[in-house]
Amino acid sequence: MCQEALVINFRGVVQGVGFRPFVFRIAREMGVKGWVNNTPEGVSIHAEGSGLEDFIQRLLQNLPPLAKVTACTWTAAEFQGCADFRIVPSSPSAQAETLISPDVSTCAECLRDIQEPANRRHKYPFANCTNCGPRYTIILDRPYDRQNTTMAEFTLCPECESEYHNPLDRRFHAQPVACAACGPKAVLCDENGRELPGLGQAELQQGRIIAVKSLGGFHLACSARDAAAVERLRQRKHRESKPFALMARNIDIVKAFCYLNELETDLLQSPAAPIVVLKTRGALNRLGLDPALAPNLDTLGVMLPYTPLHHLLLSDNPDLLVMTSANLSGEPLITGNETALTRLKGVADYWLMHDREIYHPCDDSVLRVINGNPVFFRRARGYVPLPLDLARTVEPVLGAGGDLKNTFCLLKGNQAFISQHGGDLSNYDSFRQFGRSVPSFQRVVNCVPSLVAYDLHPAYHSSRFARDLDLPGLAVQHHHAHLASCLAENFVDGKVLGVICDGTGYGTDGRIWGFEFLWGDSTGFERAGHLEYLPLPGGDASTKSPARIAFAYLCALFGTDLIQYLKYLPSLSPQEAALLEQQVRRSFNTFATSSCGRLFDAVSALAGCCSSVNYEGQAAVELEAAIDPCEKESYPFDLETSEAGLTVRVKPMFAAMLADLATGAAKGKIAAKFHHTVVQIILGALQPLSLKYHTRQIALSGGVFQNKYLVEYLVPRLQGAGFTVYQQALLPPGDGGLCLGQAVIASEVMQNVSGDTRQSNQRI
Ligand code: ZN
Ligand code: ZN
Ligand code: FE
Repeated sequence: MCQEALVINFRGVVQGVGFRPFVFRIAREMGVKGWVNNTPEGVSIHAEGSGLEDFIQRLLQNLPPLAKVTACTWTAAEFQGCADFRIVPSSPSAQAETLISPDVSTCAECLRDIQEPANRRHKYPFANCTNCGPRYTIILDRPYDRQNTTMAEFTLCPECESEYHNPLDRRFHAQPVACAACGPKAVLCDENGRELPGLGQAELQQGRIIAVKSLGGFHLACSARDAAAVERLRQRKHRESKPFALMARNIDIVKAFCYLNELETDLLQSPAAPIVVLKTRGALNRLGLDPALAPNLDTLGVMLPYTPLHHLLLSDNPDLLVMTSANLSGEPLITGNETALTRLKGVADYWLMHDREIYHPCDDSVLRVINGNPVFFRRARGYVPLPLDLARTVEPVLGAGGDLKNTFCLLKGNQAFISQHGGDLSNYDSFRQFGRSVPSFQRVVNCVPSLVAYDLHPAYHSSRFARDLDLPGLAVQHHHAHLASCLAENFVDGKVLGVICDGTGYGTDGRIWGFEFLWGDSTGFERAGHLEYLPLPGGDASTKSPARIAFAYLCALFGTDLIQYLKYLPSLSPQEAALLEQQVRRSFNTFATSSCGRLFDAVSALAGCCSSVNYEGQAAVELEAAIDPCEKESYPFDLETSEAGLTVRVKPMFAAMLADLATGAAKGKIAAKFHHTVVQIILGALQPLSLKYHTRQIALSGGVFQNKYLVEYLVPRLQGAGFTVYQQALLPPGDGGLCLGQAVIASEVMQNVSGDTRQSNQRI
């Protein structure tokens, strides 16, 4: 048979996923000669032999589990008469461009290794291989070699060493390879640092709370089947009602108390192993679970074990654990052993720690399947630092993100690298962590920005940070950034109508925007319409009190006889209400807002769902959970058109809602009718706006679109009305996706503005 030679190139996620050993194995099996190496673009093979097309087919049909091939091309090469097939070293430039992999949950083979008594890694909590294990969380710098990870201090034993160098072994070039003889060790200890036997299963079964050092930070764990333990955890963590994430031993346990479709099952079992928000099969107490796990909700956030340590912890009873981040809400993750011992004194009973350092703190990712698509609530462990493709070349820009649920982003080439979730930057420690994360992320993704984009809000900490950098800067309007983020991930060029349903963001008129119809793209926008401005009472008391927001809105809309409404807002005292009324009348310490999130808050309080909040978004999620699915009606509203654009008036809605309340309507009915009203408002506004702007293309973004009921009611109706609908699927629709929009807008400005774009602090 005739001998030929080909150069075969693979692009995509093909490095750090065992691609070269995979090629090596198949080449050896098929008698193909030549070599394989990493290049700056991906993986390149010089192949010699006969039947090379079969070789290519074999490769494409048997890709390693974590590989994602975006292109495979081949050309004829000069026949060199190679004697064998080899893996040759990558060029230094190839190493510089290697994508860093996210952390990967334990693979099936490693799970077998720790379960088989005869295996030398039996019960070893840090087993990993080329297909699984820690990555981003342990990487200090490029290139991704063991000496640049927190595994550097562990010297390989001879057995691990031979696995590491054997191209036919699953652990060939697996940088974190380890075993009990040479790798990290887990210890259980008490608050005095005294070591105890075991991993803490017995203690969990006895109702104790254990601080567990996981991949990206410390969790607090207790048995989810022990109501007293759950209650103790709530008290000690000062966490009144925010739902706790759970970790179940396996998928069958999840199925026992939650509905699971195919996509949800796949997500739970995916290499990223995120928390998936699932609908429960009824009230928690009827399922034998403590309602305190997720008060007033019909969902639970569940994940499966994603490290060998988790698998070992759940191998015996309890089979279901609360696994909540050990840090207080808004504070940075706890990653160090010493910090965990001091900060969690009095919170945890025991500490399950190890000596592998966490370099990049990384929260669990959170997703929910909405309208058949996974929607990110939080994109972190398992996904970061994989880039998003942008399908066009962009400038090197840093997008600083927002203050809540901060993520930041770096643009490079035709890709966007989005950081993990960094918490609430108004928290001092989170802000300091943000300051450290920006340069270390720049190192990992190898990008030096020449421009920084940030939120228009003058008081955002992220904006202040950006302005203090020695870089030209660009302030970007919050909802414009939400729109641009949605367009960028959907590769949409040209203007569309953006429907941004959001909490709050600073507007170009200095007011607080949030329910916006924007006509635009990444080059600019026009405010085509918005919810009418209503008075948002300022001060700490009000931010926590949907009842105060509701009363302020009623004051502004109805003006007189307000005292009659207090019976629907029992958490407000008459004195408090009188003061609030004065505040609104005199516009004292109130902010005009068109926020959609605050509208949900006000209705949640009025409907009798949630009058005070102790976690972000609580009023809205409790309102969604209350919906009566049998209710089909909606409330009236007005759309007012003027030179300035379209204004949505909600006085008719509140009037009808108050009439419902007067007849004793259930909260489930009001919650459903309100959700339908929001959908009708969007449909109603888009009719004239789509004619005015000659478009049928709609982009949906903003934190409110994490609402499953709303999206599933809205999107089919939009599509039925002939609209093409773009949504966020790769980044959160909330402020966790803001940074991408900021960055692409700034990149566009750099590319388009003629003359000197490097003047500091432009505003658009
Ligand atoms: Zn593995
Ligand atoms: Zn070893
Ligand atoms: Fe926002």
